[in-house]
Amino acid sequence: MGASKANSALVHAGYNPKPGTLKALLNVRGSEMFEELCAELGVGYKRIGALVVGTEDEMDILHELLERGRTNGVRGLRIVCGEELREMEPMLSDNISCALYAPTSAITCPYELTVAAVGNAMDNGVELRRDFKVTGIRPCDGGYELISPAGRIAAKYYINSAGLHAGEVCTYTGGEDLQRTVRSGEYMLLDRECAGFVRHTIFPTPTKHGKGILVTPTVHGNLLLGPTSIEREDKDDTSVTPEGINEILEKTRKTVKDIPYWKVITSFAGLRSVDEDFIIKPGERCIHLMRIGSPGLSAAPAIAVYVKDMLAEFGLELVPKDNFNPYRKPCHGLSEMSPDDRNKLIKQNSKYGRIICRCEGISEGEIVDAIRMNPGARDLDGVKRRTRAGMGRCQGGFCSPAVLEILARELGIKPEEVTKSGGGSYILVGKTKEER
Ligand SMILES: Cc1cc2nc3c(=O)[nH]c(=O)nc-3n(C[C@H](O)[C@H](O)[C@H](O)COP(=O)(O)OP(=O)(O)OC[C@H]3O[C@@H](n4cnc5c(N)ncnc54)[C@H](O)[C@@H]3O)c2cc1C
Repeated sequence: MGASKANSALVHAGYNPKPGTLKALLNVRGSEMFEELCAELGVGYKRIGALVVGTEDEMDILHELLERGRTNGVRGLRIVCGEELREMEPMLSDNISCALYAPTSAITCPYELTVAAVGNAMDNGVELRRDFKVTGIRPCDGGYELISPAGRIAAKYYINSAGLHAGEVCTYTGGEDLQRTVRSGEYMLLDRECAGFVRHTIFPTPTKHGKGILVTPTVHGNLLLGPTSIEREDKDDTSVTPEGINEILEKTRKTVKDIPYWKVITSFAGLRSVDEDFIIKPGERCIHLMRIGSPGLSAAPAIAVYVKDMLAEFGLELVPKDNFNPYRKPCHGLSEMSPDDRNKLIKQNSKYGRIICRCEGISEGEIVDAIRMNPGARDLDGVKRRTRAGMGRCQGGFCSPAVLEILARELGIKPEEVTKSGGGSYILVGKTKEER
């Protein structure tokens, strides 16, 4: 529920990071690992390519990016102009005349990937502790004790990947908080009716302030506009502002024309650090991951391997599991099935025939799967991010009460105990009418 749930969902090709940085190395490596990882974990991945678009005056910057990308080892980069560019992307604004084309840039679903990665780890024997905020770490018996209001865990090693809070966690064992400025990125998400409006991820020419505000399809067929880059004091402030929305409207018009802004179904924001490089720093029997801003999603598979190799250097014996299963079945997919396959499934279990989310076509059977599969959904947002129930045009207006009932039934709790997103986010306060 940190940055990994609210970002542009892009697997960047790797032409942006400065050559020689960890970002450059791990972005390009991670991007090459992504397709196979998504196939194994049953997560959406589409290599649609990206266009960094510009005017004649911006051509020099595009050439610089091209060179940077080639130095970083990105394959297939080239400059496209004129007719060819218009044919590739007919909706570009009239002032756009050239672009850097990155064919290996892709889109994915970051929160489904995160859930699937955790689920697969659990299927292979990993234990997940939820609501376990680490508030202190104490050296003990040649290792550590991780302290939380929810309990304590003994650890021989620990990996601090607490996102924007990793700096604080690093200080618990005497390290330095190297996490710096935080910037909010606000987005507008448009209805799936806009599927196909643009074919690629469209970036403006970058400036010293960053990659700029993009227009991109999502793997689920929506159109995503954003992010802004606004400095925030509070590392958890994901508010969306009128200024942010106005900036999105103004800047996306410069790259893509006739965007149907009125088809917006929701807006949201994510927070990231915007430093030149990641910090992946070994300590005494621990590793701290700080400043993991963009392209942290694209680099994630390569970051994992990098951290694993660091653990091996500590002397930890890493033995591959004989029966490791890299595969995970997604808990939604009915709407993409053929009518025959759907009928077969409904014959086996009639719950797949009861549609709960009408916007996204999600059945009761899929919601039950999401609650029962690792890591089981425990609240409305958990169901939403596993099945898409509540992700559509009505944003859960119709399906939330039914999802709430299913959660209460499956978890054996009262409806009043069901939350939107854990903690105290209860939805119902009690009955207004007693049953007769
Ligand atoms: C607006 C925006 C756009 C972006 N776009 C892209 C993109 O298109 N492509 C790309 O590659 N990257 C992108 N990124 C970057 C990417 O999202 C991040 O690099 C990545 O998600 C960081 O993952 P993380 O696991 O380090 O942090 P997070 O996803 O934030 O996870 C940190 C976790 O640590 C937990 N935590 C915090 N403190 C504690 C504690 N004390 N104890 C226990 N747990 C704790 C949090 O609850 C959270 O679950 C974007 C980021 C943003 C914000």
